[in-house]
Amino acid sequence: MAAYPPDSRQPVFRFAPSPNGRLHLGHALSALSNEALARRFGGRLLLRIEDIDLIRCRPEFVDGILADLDWLGICFEGSVRRQSEHFDDYGRALASLQARGLVYPCFCSRQEIKAAVAACEAENGKSWPVDPDGAPLYPGFCKGLDKAEAEHRIATGEPHVLRLDMARALAQAGDGLGYELFDEAGRRCFVPAQPARWGDVVLARKDVPTSYHLAVVTDDALQGVSHVVRGRDLEAATDVHVVLQRLLGLPTPLYHFHALLIDADGRKLAKSRASESLAELRAQGVTAAAIRQRLGFA
Ligand code: GLU
Repeated sequence: MAAYPPDSRQPVFRFAPSPNGRLHLGHALSALSNEALARRFGGRLLLRIEDIDLIRCRPEFVDGILADLDWLGICFEGSVRRQSEHFDDYGRALASLQARGLVYPCFCSRQEIKAAVAACEAENGKSWPVDPDGAPLYPGFCKGLDKAEAEHRIATGEPHVLRLDMARALAQAGDGLGYELFDEAGRRCFVPAQPARWGDVVLARKDVPTSYHLAVVTDDALQGVSHVVRGRDLEAATDVHVVLQRLLGLPTPLYHFHALLIDADGRKLAKSRASESLAELRAQGVTAAAIRQRLGFA
């Protein structure tokens, strides 16, 4: 392990919540981990609102996030970047991948993929491979579609997503894909990436010209983020991010994945259970100092 810092640039951290619900203790842990590590390494801390999901994200949740972070006493530098205001940036990144023949339109719905996979499993008596999130790998039905047919279907308004051709992407990206993990002491170690386990991931959703993966790598680069601190639930997704960074000529930040909080039933905390939100804890009279103490940041 090498000791940080390798150069004299000031580190840049970011907390990047999605406003599709109220923040809970797990988000507080993430935000406070960013704050603590930014302080330790003399870094700046930025806030980014990841609101590409125009249906699930709502302005009142953005207000809630800002209020909760303010209450926790976390200070962010500069202006807040809202992803919904930067679709052009993601569109440009997408276009550069398209120009290299790495993207194809896919007209399959999730249900169609599920049904096809189930039929295949029943026929062969073998389970279909799944990605690290447990979703079936895309079987590639639309990969070989005739270009004219695909263009016609797009022109007639047929809903479609855009997928990364992972095999081609990996061939173009070359060897040595991976990233450096860093810990609280500033030690670093290289982790090789295994992006193939994700298959042909979605780069642009039906309704917006991006996906989480494309937006996050674009923004981390545009915001000069050098240190990404996020939960272990996003560790595997980092393998997709390093491929995109390599293909788009973007730097790969250092990464740190914090443990996830588990509730009394052994489940990961979720935004859908309002009873565990910071707003609810606050309403019950819990103080920000008590939250910091409970999460080990007193
Ligand atoms: N927006 C993501 C979330 O709320 C976090 C993205 C990231 O940290 O890369 O789970």
